[in-house]
Amino acid sequence: MIVRTSVFLLLVAALPIVLSGQQPADPAGGPNPLLRPWTTPFGVPPFGEIKPEHFLPAIKAGIAQQRQEIDAIANNPQPPTFANTLEALENAGELLSTVSPVFSNMQSSNTNEQLQAINREVAPLLTALRDDIRLNPALFARVKTLWDARASLTLPPIQARLLEEQYKSFVRGGANLSPEQKARFRQINGELSALGIRFGDNLLHDTNSYRLVVGSAADLKGLPPSVVAAGADAAKAAGEAGKWVYTLQAPSIWPFLQYADNRELRRQILTAYTTRNDGGGQYDNKAIVAQQAALRAERAQLLGYKSHADFVLEENMAKTPDRVYALLNQLWEPARAMAIREAADQQALVKASGGTFTIEAADWRYYQEKIKQQRFALDEQALRPYFKLDNVRQGAFYVANRLYGLTVAPRPDLPTYHPEVQAFEVKEADGTHVGIFYTDYHPRPGKRVGAWSSSFRSTRMKDGKRVTPVVVNVCNFSRPAGDEPALLTLEEVGTLFHEFGHALNSLLSQSPYRGLGGFPRDFVEVPSQIMENWALEPEVLKVYAKHYKTGEVIPAALVEKIKKAEQFDQGFITVEYLAACLLDMDWHTLPAGPARDTTAFEHASMAKVRLPREIVPRYRSTYFNHIFGPGGGYSSGYYAYIWSEVLDQDAFEAFREKGLFDQATARGFRTILEQGGTDDPMNLYKAFRGREPSVEPLLRKRGLK
Ligand SMILES: [Zn+2]
Repeated sequence: MIVRTSVFLLLVAALPIVLSGQQPADPAGGPNPLLRPWTTPFGVPPFGEIKPEHFLPAIKAGIAQQRQEIDAIANNPQPPTFANTLEALENAGELLSTVSPVFSNMQSSNTNEQLQAINREVAPLLTALRDDIRLNPALFARVKTLWDARASLTLPPIQARLLEEQYKSFVRGGANLSPEQKARFRQINGELSALGIRFGDNLLHDTNSYRLVVGSAADLKGLPPSVVAAGADAAKAAGEAGKWVYTLQAPSIWPFLQYADNRELRRQILTAYTTRNDGGGQYDNKAIVAQQAALRAERAQLLGYKSHADFVLEENMAKTPDRVYALLNQLWEPARAMAIREAADQQALVKASGGTFTIEAADWRYYQEKIKQQRFALDEQALRPYFKLDNVRQGAFYVANRLYGLTVAPRPDLPTYHPEVQAFEVKEADGTHVGIFYTDYHPRPGKRVGAWSSSFRSTRMKDGKRVTPVVVNVCNFSRPAGDEPALLTLEEVGTLFHEFGHALNSLLSQSPYRGLGGFPRDFVEVPSQIMENWALEPEVLKVYAKHYKTGEVIPAALVEKIKKAEQFDQGFITVEYLAACLLDMDWHTLPAGPARDTTAFEHASMAKVRLPREIVPRYRSTYFNHIFGPGGGYSSGYYAYIWSEVLDQDAFEAFREKGLFDQATARGFRTILEQGGTDDPMNLYKAFRGREPSVEPLLRKRGLK
């Protein structure tokens, strides 16, 4: 997953930070580190000095500064030019664009009640600021004058693209609406922002508040020693020493479901997971979901679209809901058929071992694990000693080095926001500084679930020089347990490479404008997902997959087993993912109308595609943070992973054909990463591959053909 710094940053930054005289007093009594230039190495945020109470005054000052700058652009007596309007807009709001990413990153990865309260206060201010910019008639008139004259302006291509993107962002931001419509549009944006925040805070609450406390060792039967040790550690941390605690965090719940013989406990923990924010009361998200879907549909209608999905997809490669449904449906039936075969295999195993029950969701991972061990003699736990977290990270760095000549070296001298965060400097082969990369890998209560890549500072050109990026990967990986270091599962290895792929995309971007920095949602997973392919190549495994105790390289026979088992369980994996994609699309192709009943809507959506009863969508509506969480960035966009997978599998074929680290192919792919949003992604892709992508490599990889 990638988290983009909020959309309003499209219209931000330059003017030096001039705040002398108007600098608000710091409530803590000292100078506010967010309001003065940062003298840290590479200008990274001075994390050690930043306190929660510094954010509100700094963000308010940033908003005030940006308002002044926007007014100056809108009321400029000179006729509009590229420089005095588009470039000036791009550069407005330097302070806010410095402070705001720090705040939003802390809100996602290291939050607490104080920051959550500040967020509830700040979010409406930022939403109003964005609307005030987009809905400013004088400002829009200037942009529109340039847009209407675009044929005669003879702008260089990149400036022409910035003009087009800016113009579209105004139109899509409501600039053409009537005054009454504008008022309603603002109201909707404000409500959506608040609903997204409530959804996220509620989800954090329900995820953190559940604990499965196991008091008897007999109930741990089946669990590998490392999972038992992690449960004991968690119990100690929870003040339940001597017992074992399992939570809804990924490194805790999934191994429990995979291995615990106790069927009743598996049911309990999975039920807690799938009914999060669905139990009534103050943390229930059902109404929040339904309201968001209704408000998004209404907003789309105001802007002249049939649905929110039509509005969103226009800006993506897919362009229309029909094309998204076409891809999802093409994959759904073969994947569903495969999942039904997998379920039948499990049922046969239950019968063979004397069971008389029908398998259900809480049984799936458990019996699939047993079948996997029978069929491939592949025990996931036997792999983990070869996947020490530090080694896996080195493996990802190694791939970046072989492909692009980049070196990544630890910088323990840089400030971080948590003791578990580590800082690295990324350099070109010739020693040129590329950017700073932070890793933050383990779960804690103030961190949202999942894994993502984000930035504290994005690339652009300023005064003829490249502003270098500061990027962070945030994950929820297995912790060190007992006396073992952090040992990753195969899936976590893929995730580490995935998020590092996003990081490379941000680090290598050469976009001169922040407004052109990013890919559309359904291309943005290409740079990340393609990295997962290198992780499991024998040539790469040899380099990083070394036993944490003996240093022994992972045996070739084990690598062979991993390769053979690659298509195992693909029916389930594909179906649970596609089900969530379809649920997302169904919510967001709704026409404007009253809020729906969330439970009934979800049920009908899944019944329509005949979701097998043993499978729960990867995310149910009440905890589908990608689409209903703060910002809702993946709404009508959860399909992006598989859309991108068509492209990344096709792109990786180029490396298979030419060589895993073929330098010409790597240079071609790096060009895509560097260009980012400065060109249409299909143009970039065709320049790399010499043709449009083919869906065949994806079908082969998942065994769907
Ligand atoms: Zn991603």
